Amino acid sequence: MRKYIVMGIQGSGKGTQAAMLSRDFDLAQISVGDIFRWNVQNHTKIGAQVRRTMARGQLVEDDLVQQVVDDRLRGHDWNYGFIIDGFPRSAPQAEFFLESYDIDAVIYLDLPDEEVRRRVQGRRVCSRCGLDYNLMAHHPKRADTCDVCGGELVTREDDTEEALQNRLREYHEMIGPLLELFRRKERVVTVDARPDKETVQHAIRTALGLSTNTG
Ligand code: AMP
Repeated sequence: MRKYIVMGIQGSGKGTQAAMLSRDFDLAQISVGDIFRWNVQNHTKIGAQVRRTMARGQLVEDDLVQQVVDDRLRGHDWNYGFIIDGFPRSAPQAEFFLESYDIDAVIYLDLPDEEVRRRVQGRRVCSRCGLDYNLMAHHPKRADTCDVCGGELVTREDDTEEALQNRLREYHEMIGPLLELFRRKERVVTVDARPDKETVQHAIRTALGLSTNTG
C-alpha cells in the first residue's frame, strides 16, 4: 500500500505526475480540483457552492474540502494505495488529514512563478470530457478540439490573470508552513518541476525508491 500527496503550484504538473504514478502503481488518483469541477459541470449542490469561489481562484472552505476528501476515501477503491493532488492547501486541511490517514511521502513539485505564468497561459480544458491540454506540450490534432471526444477546448474559468495573481499570493503564504508541518511528521521529497514530464517522473520515482521503469 502506497499513499502519497503531490503538492505544487498551479501548472506545476501535479495532475500529470499523479496520473503517471497512478497508472503504473495502481493507485487511486484523487484530485480535489477535478472533483469540484465535476460538480460544477454537473450542476450539483456542491457545484453551486464552489463555482464562484473557484472562478475567482480562491480556496474553497476547509469543511467542504474535508467532506469531499473523506467521501472519496471512504469509497475504499484503493487496495494498492492512493495519490492525492491539490490537497491539502491549508493547515486545518493538513491536520484533519493527518489525524485520519498516514502517508508515505509528500512529493513537492518546485516551479518558479514566471514558469507558472507561461504554462497557465497555454492551458485549455475540454468543455465536454474535462481532459486537460497544455498547448505548449500537447497540441490537439484539430485546433480548439478535443482529440478524445471532439468537444470544444476552452480556457479554464479560473485561468484569468486576476485569478492567477490571487493564487500565486495565496500559494506563497500557504506552502512554507504546510511543508514545515509535513516535514515534522512525514517524508517530503522536493523535485524540480521545470523539465519535461518524463524527467520529472523519473526524479520522483528515484526519490521515492520506486522502480523507474515507466510504461
Ligand atoms: P486545481 O485544479 O487543483 O487548481 O483546483 C481548482 C480550484 O478548486 C481551486 O482554485 C480552488 O478553488 C478549488 N480547490 C481545489 N483543491 C482545493 C483545496 N484543497 N482547498 C480549497 N480549495 C480547493
